[in-house]
Amino acid sequence: MSEQLTPEFVRSALESAPDAMIMIDAAGQVLFANQQLFALFGYTRADILNRSVDILLPERFRARHVAHRERFAAEQRMRPMGQGRELYARRKDGTEFPVEISLSPIQDGDKRLVAAAIRDTTERARVQRELIAAREAAERARQVAVEARELADRANQAKTRFLATASHDLRQPLQSIALLNGTLRRVLDDRHALEEALDYQDQAIGAMSRLLNALLDISKLESGAIKPEPADFPIAPVFEELRREFANVAQSKGLQFRVESTCDCAHSDPSLVGQVLRNLVSNAIKYTQTGAVRLQSLPRPRSLRIEVCDTGIGIPAAQIPFIYDEFYQVGVSTNTTRDGYGLGLSIVRRIVNLLDVRLDVVSEVGKGSMFAIELPRAHTMIHGESKRTSHATAPTMQQAPQILLVEDDAAVRNATRMLLRAEGYRVLTAGTVAEAQAVAREHPLDALVTDYHLNADETGSQVINSVRSIRGAQVRAVLITGDTSAAIQELEQDERLRMARKPIHAEEFLGLLKSLLER
Ligand code: ADP
Repeated sequence: MSEQLTPEFVRSALESAPDAMIMIDAAGQVLFANQQLFALFGYTRADILNRSVDILLPERFRARHVAHRERFAAEQRMRPMGQGRELYARRKDGTEFPVEISLSPIQDGDKRLVAAAIRDTTERARVQRELIAAREAAERARQVAVEARELADRANQAKTRFLATASHDLRQPLQSIALLNGTLRRVLDDRHALEEALDYQDQAIGAMSRLLNALLDISKLESGAIKPEPADFPIAPVFEELRREFANVAQSKGLQFRVESTCDCAHSDPSLVGQVLRNLVSNAIKYTQTGAVRLQSLPRPRSLRIEVCDTGIGIPAAQIPFIYDEFYQVGVSTNTTRDGYGLGLSIVRRIVNLLDVRLDVVSEVGKGSMFAIELPRAHTMIHGESKRTSHATAPTMQQAPQILLVEDDAAVRNATRMLLRAEGYRVLTAGTVAEAQAVAREHPLDALVTDYHLNADETGSQVINSVRSIRGAQVRAVLITGDTSAAIQELEQDERLRMARKPIHAEEFLGLLKSLLER
């Protein structure tokens, strides 16, 4: 200690030092402690003075402390205590707190003392923990951003591939149609060549329509425009519709198409379930050369399992994860001309996700495949199907039926008018609700053919209502629409209304109109 300073002054300087200070002898007995130490540990002077310093340590460190003290005594120099280790102190109330301790040797005559400054590092540890947590959070956020960017890149690449394949597949039939049109102009006098070219054109148009329909389905599902409308419904009518739809094509391939009878009822969206099964049955028939395709419903305790089984070519196990990708076809590279487009199962995947329905596939090459969906069972029993009754009476027509065609697009209007005229109908045309009303006031009508979405937000339903208010509710109508959901609702309620889905197929459309007029 300094010779100029009195011991009292040194004592009072130590008392008012900012850190807790303590002085011990070689045996670890406390010779001095300042106010900060009492405040920090909750002891009084009497509790500590002349007692072992061990009471300031958590019990688990006390045994080791003796050895530490001896090591410090052997190599006395100023240094922090327990370098690299976390140090803890113990208050009088038993609670522990992290500390930083600096030791310095003091020689008092022949006595070797140790002075220690003790600093509570609780606050610093907290700040450090927060800093580490903040750094980790920032790192996690950076990771998420990187992953999001990678995902966006992959989505972009997928979109580019999607557009490239879609445009390729649309360009092929378009190209055929353009060439065939050139041929048609040159062979007008050759009936045989004319028919052949028209058949090819039909095929090309069919291919474009199928692809366009699939793309529209995907875009509607992607955009969230399709909202499932779950209800209890019987499976039998869905099966019956599929049987009617696919019986001919199965027969033409020499395949058995077995639709098992069922009284089961499910709770889901019947039209979306129908769309899933339509795609699965269509594939089963397409990829089966001999044998049978079977559609059946198997009741489970809480669900209905609907299976589409075939005895077809099967799918290699390694390919199964990819068959739901857009434009993916087993063994066919994209951008080659193919049968089908590889979109059916990607539509199925989107619908089952939307319906939250499980889809399973089991397949063996050369033996066949089984696709199954698992639907929730109906909440209530449904007894029989409500049969719709018809009160329509066939009109007596002395001459060709008169049709009012309402279409806002001039090119489509002209093409439809020509088709109807070529079929022998008398045709009047309109582009808006007002024009349709004007025609209806002037002319008797046997049927109305109207587009659903007209200009200025007018709809085909408005056309039908206003024409019927003039000419009577018996006027039959065909609603042409790509927007099936809204139109189907009207169809359920109206026996004199039919719906034609866009893009319309000439023969189907004329067949529909004919059957409507014959009712
Ligand atoms: P595609 O228009 O080619 O039928 P999908 O998306 O419906 O497109 O099916 C993707 C691919 O999965 C098909 O090209 C076919 O290779 C395979 N696949 C689907 N269903 C079956 C099945 N029942 N049997 C064998 N292969 C199938």
